[in-house]
Amino acid sequence: MGKIVTKFGGSSLSDAGQFRKVRAIIEKDDRRCYVIPSAPGRRFDKDEKVTDLLYRTYRASKSGEDFHAVFQLIRERYMEIAQELKLGIDIAKHLDALEKEIERGVTEDYVASRGEYLNGLLLADYLGYTFLDPKDLVFFSEDGSFDSELTHTVMASTLKHVDRAVIPGFYGSIAGGEVKTFSRGGSDITGAIVARAAYAELYENWTDVSGFLMTDPRIVPEARPIRNITYSELRELSYMGAGVLHEDSVFPVHRAGIPTNIRNTNEPDARGTMITHGAVDEENPYVITGIAGRLGFSVLSVEKAMMNSEVGFGRRVLQAIEENGLSFEHMPTGIDTMCVVVSAAELEPVKAKVVKRIMELTSPDSLTIQDDMGIIATVGRGMVQNPGTAAKLFTALSREGVNVRMLAQGSSELSILVGVDEADFQRAIRAIYDEFVQD
Ligand code: ASP
Repeated sequence: MGKIVTKFGGSSLSDAGQFRKVRAIIEKDDRRCYVIPSAPGRRFDKDEKVTDLLYRTYRASKSGEDFHAVFQLIRERYMEIAQELKLGIDIAKHLDALEKEIERGVTEDYVASRGEYLNGLLLADYLGYTFLDPKDLVFFSEDGSFDSELTHTVMASTLKHVDRAVIPGFYGSIAGGEVKTFSRGGSDITGAIVARAAYAELYENWTDVSGFLMTDPRIVPEARPIRNITYSELRELSYMGAGVLHEDSVFPVHRAGIPTNIRNTNEPDARGTMITHGAVDEENPYVITGIAGRLGFSVLSVEKAMMNSEVGFGRRVLQAIEENGLSFEHMPTGIDTMCVVVSAAELEPVKAKVVKRIMELTSPDSLTIQDDMGIIATVGRGMVQNPGTAAKLFTALSREGVNVRMLAQGSSELSILVGVDEADFQRAIRAIYDEFVQD
């Protein structure tokens, strides 16, 4: 029988009612054998995530303030779930122990990791699954980087002997000793690691949305969900700011050829978004898969007659950028111009130095900097086979009176990037969406 690894986000496990939904989902498919919980998330709009409360507790105790009031909020969250579900586990004992540990002084990562740890204990008890502590399965090196190979070896050999388990997300340890967490949202990564080690046929990531939307719903409220997307398209969209998944969670499953399915715990019958390696079961109804964008770019345009025949010109421009610790995002070039797109916030403090250095190194005819640019990526694996896609896109933008200030086609031909004034950003996204997505 194939295996499915299911990861549940914080909102999917925020209270006893959500725990019930999670159990119903797991019981519906026998292949759902490894479950990765996050810490309890928000139950309503202004609610606080347990992980945030834990960080607050840590900061209070560290600065010698009374942390017990905040800790009490955390205690209530777990106690309520345990009591309402009539769980056998003595969670109060674990909470008491944690409170004492914090009093004695433990690390920030350790305190933060307890959100997942305690939720994992509750969920394992509720499902009747074995509890596996990722402290013994997920490893970081001394320098803090994730040790993927050691983790894979240990995780894979452990899972061989455990049929059904709950493995808390978000943390591991440095060589089996000190607990260390991933960055925020890191339970996604744990899920992907487990999926790879379990040779799962599918990695399900259950959250509170029915998959990815084709674009930001704050700009296009009726944005449709994406049914199928490839990992490469996802990478392009998330690089441009569309985020549901932790970026580092994509690599382990992508490499292992395991598809990821984003599902909604509150709408379990919706099929969500399926992310696959290459071929998809079913094509999307539109030529484009999604549109994403980011604000806050600056464009440095360097112009020099006969630039195209000057050996080393591009390298010298980039040298000036590199020497000032900047990374560049894009680099569209013309015959006598070269543009380098960088983050405006990163450029700001070193602007004068960068300008001076480019002048010294390249003696250009002109050097201009334009700020306040937004970049929009229109992504779709179907774009290459469809002639006229670019024409459609530009027609839509010109109809809206949007001035395209920069243009680049991703070399993978998966995306077309346009740079627009920040003031035109939302209108441009709306126009592209309307052009390509019609009923
Ligand atoms: N609980 C952690 C956070 O809030 C990790 C996660 O939920 O993935 O960032």
